[in-house]
Amino acid sequence: MLSDSANPTPPNLIQADSIEAAILPPPPQVSPQASIGEALRLMNSLKECAIGTARTASSLPVPPPLDGNPSPNPSPSPRFSPYSDSTYLHLTMGCIVVVEQGVLQGILTERDIVRLACGALDLEKTAISTVMTQPVLSLTREEMTDLFVVYNLLRRHQIRHLPIVDRSGRVEGIVTLSSLRHNLSKSYFLRFRQVWEVMTSKVVTVLPTDSLAAVAQRLFTYNISCVVVVQPAPQSSAPRSQQIPVGIVTERDILQLKALELDFLKLQVQDVMSTPLAVVRATDGLEVVQEMMQVRRVRRLVVTTPDGVLVGIITETNLTKVLDPLELYGIVEILQKQVFNLTKSRNRLLASRNFDLEEAFQRQEFRLVYQPQLNLEKNRIAGAEALIRWNSKDRGPIPPAEFIPWAEQTYFIVKLGYWILRTACEQAQSWCRLGLGEITVAVNVSSHQLMDPYFVDRTVAIVRETGLPPHCLKLELTESVLVDNLSAAAEQFQRLQEASIQIAIDDFGTGYASLSYLQYFSFDILKIDRSFVHHIDQNYRNQAIVASILRLAHQLNFQVIAEGVETEAERQLLQAQGCPCIQGYGFSRPLEVDDFIQFVQHYRDSA
Ligand code: C2E
Ligand code: CA
Ligand code: CA
Repeated sequence: MLSDSANPTPPNLIQADSIEAAILPPPPQVSPQASIGEALRLMNSLKECAIGTARTASSLPVPPPLDGNPSPNPSPSPRFSPYSDSTYLHLTMGCIVVVEQGVLQGILTERDIVRLACGALDLEKTAISTVMTQPVLSLTREEMTDLFVVYNLLRRHQIRHLPIVDRSGRVEGIVTLSSLRHNLSKSYFLRFRQVWEVMTSKVVTVLPTDSLAAVAQRLFTYNISCVVVVQPAPQSSAPRSQQIPVGIVTERDILQLKALELDFLKLQVQDVMSTPLAVVRATDGLEVVQEMMQVRRVRRLVVTTPDGVLVGIITETNLTKVLDPLELYGIVEILQKQVFNLTKSRNRLLASRNFDLEEAFQRQEFRLVYQPQLNLEKNRIAGAEALIRWNSKDRGPIPPAEFIPWAEQTYFIVKLGYWILRTACEQAQSWCRLGLGEITVAVNVSSHQLMDPYFVDRTVAIVRETGLPPHCLKLELTESVLVDNLSAAAEQFQRLQEASIQIAIDDFGTGYASLSYLQYFSFDILKIDRSFVHHIDQNYRNQAIVASILRLAHQLNFQVIAEGVETEAERQLLQAQGCPCIQGYGFSRPLEVDDFIQFVQHYRDSA
């Protein structure tokens, strides 16, 4: 067996994914005043000349000069990798960017143009500015720190093109879904996974003294491509099943020997087996496996315990079966649909139970509890989420998940919502007076509440009347709010933020649209849903997702809070990943007002 020091120094394979190579030269540029007809002709001409002549990337058409500005450097900078013609065409011809005075204004994709051309618009008379997609999500070169994050961004946005701009908004290049796929090596999907997750643990073994005929027989019988050569573990006390691997014989070895017309009955395994073995541990990361396979030029590795006992093998095929961590989003969406169906049937049930919320409200059966939120960086309580509780005189406590949907359906939530808001603001203001310091209070707002045309005015008025500094109020909205009333919500958000009230996106990552809506809104906070936090210390996919949400949030300047943190291990992992804030039973359950005050005082004294 090889010791680690005997390994040749691996080339820098993992870093082979090049961010630079994923950035293509800037697409053709047009001014917003140009007509769609012009855009169409521009796109077609580029296509024809690219198809017409064999050329390399360096001789491909340089984008036309920006309006009124000097022509860009005609020789593309060497960082753009030379794709073959067909790839280049495939990679670049998907869009044109709309630019005014050099600054990115919008984007038009080939698909948009085709759609417009098929419609009733007068193409020569319609200005591009009226139809282009605007605003465009773009990144600067500095923000493109990780291809995985960018890939994630595009997939979640369901967009294919992402312009790369400099700080003043000038287009320096473009990243497309294809250019990303092209440059994202498998290692991106491998680095969060370990060997044991995908290895084959049922291995056929032979002894060094077995004949090659026996090996050939086994390969054939079990329809496998290799056998591992073992000798029994040295200690007599060890179970018989503990075997120490010493070599490997593959199908290819057998074929080569066969071609030499050797006598398989006379040849022994130890004469022909490949050795020394390439060995990994079950807890090694898959990127280690990939690297070792590339360096050693082998297609399979033997997996052992630290004392060299055989536990399995891992092959190239095992690696290709690794699930793209982002596929998980698809799974979440399916679950989400099931939850939706469940909600519908539950609502029918609720209707039959006939909750009288109005009466309960008059009888003052509702109250708020407060769940502390911890700022990990500053080790102090950053705020609290207000959560409603209903203790029905007739039926006892009824959880919010049961009555909130009913309150929404009957629009009672609008009235209840203002009561929640006022109560929470008064409470937070009284904490300030008690000398607990500034504690921001987070209030959940359902999409039905936003349908009140006076929602913003009333909210701002409540904040003013209670005397709470407006930046101490956070409104928590779920993604569905955005999907349901996109344009109305955008305007309301803007006005709330102008009044210094913060906006948090709740249950982030579970909805349909999330990131695709980030470009339309400016948020302050993302709350990572607890489904991603649950067992995050053991779940590499969730680690990958949370890591990319954190990096993205950093790039887009959002604060992040992880919810549903229940265990110390989850908390530590999140902290190690750089998650600034947490909330969850692990830190504290939702508390009654008095308990909350005590909790804060006690925490501050002990910290
Ligand atoms: P949410 O906004 O996601 O609130 C977080 C829920 O997770 C709360 O449940 C909280 O008690 C629970 N939770 C907190 N930490 C943990 C944890 O570590 N593990 C687990 N498993 N759960 C944790 P709750 O209070 O039952 O509320 C459920 C949902 O009802 C809320 O989900 C929210 O959508 C809605 N809701 C609650 N209060 C209000 C309100 O005042 N207004 C509106 N519109 N909706 C509310
Ligand atoms: Ca919430
Ligand atoms: Ca939540």
